[in-house]
Amino acid sequence: DKFKQGLTKTRDSFSGKVNDLVARYRKVDEEFFEELEEILIGADVGFETVMTLVDDLKMEVKRRNISDSKEVQSVISEKLVEIYQGNDADHTELNMQEGLTVILFVGVNGVGKTTTIGKLANKLKGEGKTVMLAAGDTFRAGAIEQLEVWGERVGVEVIKQAEGSDPAAVMFDALRSAKAKKADVLICDTAGRLQNKVNLMNELEKVKRVIEREIPGAPHEVLLALDATTGQNALIQAKTFKEVTNVTGIVLTKLDGTAKGGIVLAIRNELNIPVKFVGLGEKMDDLQEFDADKYVYGLFA
Ligand code: GDP
Repeated sequence: DKFKQGLTKTRDSFSGKVNDLVARYRKVDEEFFEELEEILIGADVGFETVMTLVDDLKMEVKRRNISDSKEVQSVISEKLVEIYQGNDADHTELNMQEGLTVILFVGVNGVGKTTTIGKLANKLKGEGKTVMLAAGDTFRAGAIEQLEVWGERVGVEVIKQAEGSDPAAVMFDALRSAKAKKADVLICDTAGRLQNKVNLMNELEKVKRVIEREIPGAPHEVLLALDATTGQNALIQAKTFKEVTNVTGIVLTKLDGTAKGGIVLAIRNELNIPVKFVGLGEKMDDLQEFDADKYVYGLFA
């Protein structure tokens, strides 16, 4: 099970600490909860989320009249899953269209955006769809070539122009081409500059205007790639991108590379944007649709 495997580092750290806590405290008391709070914060679950979670937990423990710390462990799992329920952020499926679906990728350089585009192209191609890529990061040196490498690897066409050209012009070409070829999905890369919020916003707005003009209602998804290993920084990036553009989903990359996989919960709870996919490795098939049950199971099992 890929999910379980990808969460090995987080599980080893997190469930190890919870097990140790449960072993040390037979009875559940205020200090038990305080230590649990520390463990959760240490796993990057995020302060607000931890407070909500532990408050809920205390109430549930009281309601069920639980005093044995071992029993609390299963309530923790329940509450972790509950964080994901009954909310907009649970729509983890891609908003696929009958005709051309346009997916715009945003995110800071180095978070794994290009790799994720490659993986997603591979996944959709595997589902029988015709996929094309648009090399919209014309700013970063090597970004176009890197996307081409993925295009070749997966076997999908990449629409590009020279480095330094106008990303909106690349999108225009790519959209025309995707329509002419009756492609099912066009995945568009964008430049990951966050240093200048106004520039980034202008660039994304311009790109979105071109897309919207060619295909009303598009882009159908704006996916933000975030690096799980950057912890609370990922949360700050997400907040900034949310201000700049209408993010419809998050891809959390490198979840396999961190012991602090609790960041998924923080993102879900504090931003109210669904985590649609998680990256669990560097290979082409290391992209998984996010599943709260599998995730929580992966934390403990
Ligand atoms: P970009 O600058 O955002 O386009 O980032 P890249 O796609 O070039 O990825 C940066 C590095 O992160 C590369 O070495 C990737 O192989 C690696 N990477 C991307 N996603 C994952 C993941 O889910 N797990 C691991 N372990 N590495 C990843």
